[in-house]
Amino acid sequence: MIEAVRTLDKVERIGAHSHIGGLGVDPTALEPLQNDGTASQQGMVGQRRARRAAAVVCRMVSEGQWAGRGVLIAGKPGTGKTALAMAMAQQLGPSTPFTKLTASEVYSLEVSKTESLTQAFRRSVGVHIREETDVIEGEVVEWEVEREQAAGSAAAAAAAGRLVLKTTDMETVYELGRKMMDALVRQRVKVGDVVSIDKASGRVTKLGRSFAHSRDYDATGAGTRFVACPEGEVQKRRQVEHLVSLHDIDVINSRQQGFLALFSGDTGEIKPEVREQIDAKVAQWCEEGKAEMVPGVLFIDEVHILDMECFSFLNRMLESDVAPLLVCASNRGVTRIRGTEYRSPHGLPVDFLDRLLIIATEPYAEEECREILRLRSVEEDVEVAPAALALLTKIALETSLRYAMYAMTASALICARRKAAAVEVEDVKKAYVLFMDTKRSTRYVQEHADDFLT
Ligand code: ATP
Repeated sequence: MIEAVRTLDKVERIGAHSHIGGLGVDPTALEPLQNDGTASQQGMVGQRRARRAAAVVCRMVSEGQWAGRGVLIAGKPGTGKTALAMAMAQQLGPSTPFTKLTASEVYSLEVSKTESLTQAFRRSVGVHIREETDVIEGEVVEWEVEREQAAGSAAAAAAAGRLVLKTTDMETVYELGRKMMDALVRQRVKVGDVVSIDKASGRVTKLGRSFAHSRDYDATGAGTRFVACPEGEVQKRRQVEHLVSLHDIDVINSRQQGFLALFSGDTGEIKPEVREQIDAKVAQWCEEGKAEMVPGVLFIDEVHILDMECFSFLNRMLESDVAPLLVCASNRGVTRIRGTEYRSPHGLPVDFLDRLLIIATEPYAEEECREILRLRSVEEDVEVAPAALALLTKIALETSLRYAMYAMTASALICARRKAAAVEVEDVKKAYVLFMDTKRSTRYVQEHADDFLT
């Protein structure tokens, strides 16, 4: 029998907005920082007015002066509405949850519209759970595995062992269970590593490396000796924090398969009673100082696709005690409200619109497009020659920023095939011919109208 061997390579996912790290504003004056090519503008380019307005909103949210309201970012496609919403979440704090929902996602056959919206709301509210655990902490000086058990496989070696941890002058020996041994082996813990081991879960965290010891150990751990601190000092009560969302807690408590539903995405409808119980429990943890709520940002793109039922639901949600910051985006002008005969700005009913502060995004100037493309090339680790960057900028202005970004990625692949170090004009031209932008595609469809089904 041939055994399939799967290697887990490091997968690098580069999201379209991964270069954004915040609004890039001066924290006191809330003024956008200049594009001086440094990290201070946190990947944000131009849109000074929108960034200033967004920073004011974030300040109001942080000071608790924002209840019952939301934000609408209005602007043409590709003018950075999503980027701005993500930057707002980062501005609110490093672990602020951010959920993106495209309005069409609420129309599903499995769950109702209001359930989809409720799940999105609860995904955007984080709960920092503080937990006190007993940990063994110290520098590993020696560790050893029972010889007989180690004789078989690495798995057998991990069945039991002794850990000797040491501080300045004392040594403490621990009998290790299978879980801890597994974790040590998996994490390739070496003599001289400073580690913390959770006694209950066996979770091993490498805290650093001591330079006093340089002796390596082999991955099976067989016959190798380890060390680290004296009992009193080694065993600590340590506070660890986990960040989960209210939705994660809902799912874990609502289905038989428990947390696995989080990965399958098959969460179905969650009963209101379950949510009520969870809200009461979380409120109690907060009261007892065991947890803290972290309201995040819920971003609803193409909000004009929602209907009256959704808007009235959102109105109600905004009034709830722990609502995330609702940021909507639309690229529509005056248009029909879905499911009605009424036309209104951005396709939103006036009572909902009345709750929203509107931030407008402007089309980008040439220099700004060039800078955004440059930032993306750095993020994607693509070397782009100046002439090629100039051509990509021209393409962005004539088509769209997003098309130019795709063209850059395609050019990088073409460049890699000819084993060159930097993307040149020729690579960009080839990518431009390979993939059509909207304008050329429209022209093609019009010219070949007879060949298409209508
Ligand atoms: P759509 O209306 O089509 O959803 P959008 O207005 O949400 O588009 P984004 O997707 O945010 O536009 O922007 C397109 C790309 O340009 C993204 O990769 C985004 O990160 C980047 N980008 C947009 N604006 C900025 C900016 N001001 N600074 C840095 N990057 C930006």
